[in-house]
Amino acid sequence: MRRLQLHHWILIAMALGGVLGLGFHQLGAGGTLDPSVVATLAAWAEQLGRLFLRALQMLVVPLIVSSLISSVAGVGDLRKLGRLGARTVGFYLGTSALAIATGIAVYNLLDALIPLGRWAPAWGEFASEPPPLATGEGEIRGIGAVLWDQIARVVPSNPLQAAAEGDMLPIIFFSLVLGVFISLSEHRPSSDADVEGAAEREDEERRNVRVLRRFWQGLFAVMMRMTVAVIALAPIGVFGFMFHAAASQGVEPFKGLARYVVTVALGLVLHAAVTLPLLYRAFVGRAPSQHLAAMKPALLTAFSTASSNGTLPLTLRCVEDSGVPRRVSAFVLPLGATINMDGTALYEAVAVLFIAQATGVDLSLGQQVVVALTALLASIGAAGIPHAGTVMMVVVLRAVGLPIEGVGLILAVDRVLDMARTSVNVWSDSIAAAVVSHFSGESEQTSEGP
Ligand code: ASP
Repeated sequence: MRRLQLHHWILIAMALGGVLGLGFHQLGAGGTLDPSVVATLAAWAEQLGRLFLRALQMLVVPLIVSSLISSVAGVGDLRKLGRLGARTVGFYLGTSALAIATGIAVYNLLDALIPLGRWAPAWGEFASEPPPLATGEGEIRGIGAVLWDQIARVVPSNPLQAAAEGDMLPIIFFSLVLGVFISLSEHRPSSDADVEGAAEREDEERRNVRVLRRFWQGLFAVMMRMTVAVIALAPIGVFGFMFHAAASQGVEPFKGLARYVVTVALGLVLHAAVTLPLLYRAFVGRAPSQHLAAMKPALLTAFSTASSNGTLPLTLRCVEDSGVPRRVSAFVLPLGATINMDGTALYEAVAVLFIAQATGVDLSLGQQVVVALTALLASIGAAGIPHAGTVMMVVVLRAVGLPIEGVGLILAVDRVLDMARTSVNVWSDSIAAAVVSHFSGESEQTSEGP
């Protein structure tokens, strides 16, 4: 018999967790088992999942810092890095915009075929419930303020604090700058100053800097090994999360929101199974099947953990297995896990259109464009952690003047949609890595630096 691979084990764990969880949910609902026992089991299972997620998150900061610094420092020609950056950001924005367009198109199409009309209770009935996400988050601001905050926060006032808090954009920024300066220092041309001993001192400085570069490259290699060790535990964590979701929620919450779930899911499937593979084929010139096969463990882990940030160690590993060189993936993927979220962008747009419709607000085409733009910004701003997109939804609702309590309407099904959109986020990052590496003419090279 063929040995089962990691993604097989992950799939088995998912199915087992889902089926057992649903079974226990039924037993609890039917009165055969005390519901508090089911709740306790679900809570334990969630703790198991969280432990795995914590172990993954433990790797993220050192992995990103070492991967970015070592890859940038090893680039040598910094103009190359500029081109790489421009291509990456361009591709990211393009695919997110396509995802949003797909979501809005599917929404409008389904609405034209089977009009749904207003289906939620009036706002007055909501008002008694606390706004779900407004509490404890401080004041909710407009999209402009949120955007400026994002830009300003890219420059860390203290990089160590940013690392301690796991604040990704400033960590990425600082690592890039450090990498650039390591490269500049190592390749600095000799000065002509005719001072005694100057040439020796410069040589020594270059040697020291080389040691520094090798240090980061060595750390990165070790972090990758640690990653492999932690991801071998993925099936256990995945089982925990699936069991918890199924046992605590069952299938009930989906019934009332079936249309919304179907719209988001259909949009996500179209984007992931049609648009992104077509882009891959067009740019890379190959069928994406081999790439998909290599990406399976990362996609399944993204699905069950709902965290593209937590999945990053796996994404890096899988993308490398699919032939993308490290010097490209080390730059493209951490950035993608932070700013490129096609699934989240699509979901933001569709959810807001639904909330508008559910509450009887007719959004004009112009307003739908505003929704699309703010959904794009919200997806860039959302962190790669569970439910980050739901929190950002408040921003999009504000932009078109909808009450933020609307988020309460869709919370019941948010976890499962979060799982689906996170897989699409990771899938899109991986396609970007393959496309960008192809354009950098590096796809088939070995990945090791000097
Ligand atoms: N959970 C998503 C991610 O990590 C973000 C979101 O909530 O949409 O990619």
